[in-house]
Amino acid sequence: MLNQEYVDFEIPATKHIALIAHDGKKKELVAWCDKNQEILKSHFLCGTGTTARLIAEKTGLPVKGYNSGPLGGDQQVGAKIAEGAIDFVIFLSDPLEAQPHDPDVKALLRIAQVYDIPMANNLATADFMLFSKFMNEPYHRKVENFHKVVQDRVDSMK
Ligand code: PGA
Repeated sequence: MLNQEYVDFEIPATKHIALIAHDGKKKELVAWCDKNQEILKSHFLCGTGTTARLIAEKTGLPVKGYNSGPLGGDQQVGAKIAEGAIDFVIFLSDPLEAQPHDPDVKALLRIAQVYDIPMANNLATADFMLFSKFMNEPYHRKVENFHKVVQDRVDSMK
């Protein structure tokens, strides 16, 4: 295990889904969640503060809310990915509007890549993900073995 380059993490059939939308995209995401609530109700939902509240109010689904994005919500979602507590992300960023928290947005995209997390950044991708066969079965994602990385780094600095 210590020598393996990658380790396997399971995304279970019941997923922990984070929902985030920039202001210009919130209506789209709320409508998408409303349309797909029969599927979404089988999973654990969370999101950045405003997005989570709007989805919960429209659909009646429970959506755990983190801080609002510009106040650290994206970073909280990123931290949960690193902890293994979020394994699926729908993030409708707005390609036509500058965001004050752009570094946080980039950090979230990056951490999702590092942890091999499925992440949609537009509705077409979200549809393909939601109707994938992997929604109903476990999926094995591949993550760099941080035990090995730390050990190699420690060894190289002695
Ligand atoms: P919000 O944050 O859901 O609180 O608006 C989203 C974002 O802008 O990242």
